[in-house]
Amino acid sequence: MMENIDKLKSYLEMPREILIVSHRNPDGDAIGSSLGLSLYLKKKRHNVKIIFPSEFPDTFNYLPQSDDILIHDNEPDECDKVLEKSEVIFCLDFNSLDRIDRLGEKIHEKSGVKVMIDHHIDPEPFPDYMLSDVSASSTSELVFDFISDLGDQKSIDPLIGECLYTGIITDTGSFRFSTSAKLFRIVAHLKEIGVDDKRLQDYIFNSMPIKNMKLLGHCLNNRMEILEDYGVGIIVLNKYDYQNFDIQRGDTEGIVNYLLMMRKVRLGAFITQQPNIIKLSLRSKGDLSVQQIARDHFKGGGHKNASGGSFHGSLKAAINKFKSVLPDYIDKY
Ligand code: 5GP
Ligand code: MN
Repeated sequence: MMENIDKLKSYLEMPREILIVSHRNPDGDAIGSSLGLSLYLKKKRHNVKIIFPSEFPDTFNYLPQSDDILIHDNEPDECDKVLEKSEVIFCLDFNSLDRIDRLGEKIHEKSGVKVMIDHHIDPEPFPDYMLSDVSASSTSELVFDFISDLGDQKSIDPLIGECLYTGIITDTGSFRFSTSAKLFRIVAHLKEIGVDDKRLQDYIFNSMPIKNMKLLGHCLNNRMEILEDYGVGIIVLNKYDYQNFDIQRGDTEGIVNYLLMMRKVRLGAFITQQPNIIKLSLRSKGDLSVQQIARDHFKGGGHKNASGGSFHGSLKAAINKFKSVLPDYIDKY
């Protein structure tokens, strides 16, 4: 439970100007937790705005009030105004201000009450209130806990539930990882109050454009390398792949997970050439920590079994670096 939650609770007894922010390239959990918390706070008569550093995938347009989210890349001036008048800033699904670039610098300088709700490793101690739990499946699960800890679980209605459920199924890959008995109890509750999980599954997982299915085939057939000795699978996409497949934000989401579907693979790496940077998306099974590799070598982090990072330099250099550090983390079979 959040320390001093009673103090925050009494601060929130009056209607406040509230800003919710989440991370760059928002995923289902960033969007679901932000909208779920926003709907709840609006119900409590607060004035709430959501800002993301960059745009989110169209997949999530079905979520209530997703149209009202402000994107800092597109509307920096409007975002500055909202930030300026906010009294409380909720930081969801990230734990250090450098994860949100310029917006992070602005929040750092801004006075006001700062609240973090997050489930990543190594939180930065910048907020006044913090609910940080690495054992949680998702930030959406923690938003459910937060509202419950405020003594207000009854305010969670089907619309809020739909947002939180979205974050839970995307971050757990439909209940494949980071599950707990507590999570299933929450999910049972959401289903009981009327969340239509089948409809959400169709929106999220059964809505792939044909183009993306073909991209997946291309990745598996032409861009995959397996280092059998280490139990490592790598998929690499270069800038020409981005052009040829007209890849947009969100289109590559989930591809890295296919690597772990092979029995022999215990670490999967998805390495992509972005306009100014090489991005790495890492996944692992069991005790093997990709968080350490991301943190030690790629200025990144995340969770033990799901992390990300970046590299400045050529695609080839990034791949070589990744391969060269593997022996420090994995014994040969
Ligand atoms: P993904 O591979 O899906 O982009 O990210 C997996 C996890 O790693 C997410 O929880 C995400 O927050 C974290 N992550 C991804 N990229 C970075 C990064 O550059 N820095 C840090 N600290 N975490 C990252
Ligand atoms: Mn998350």
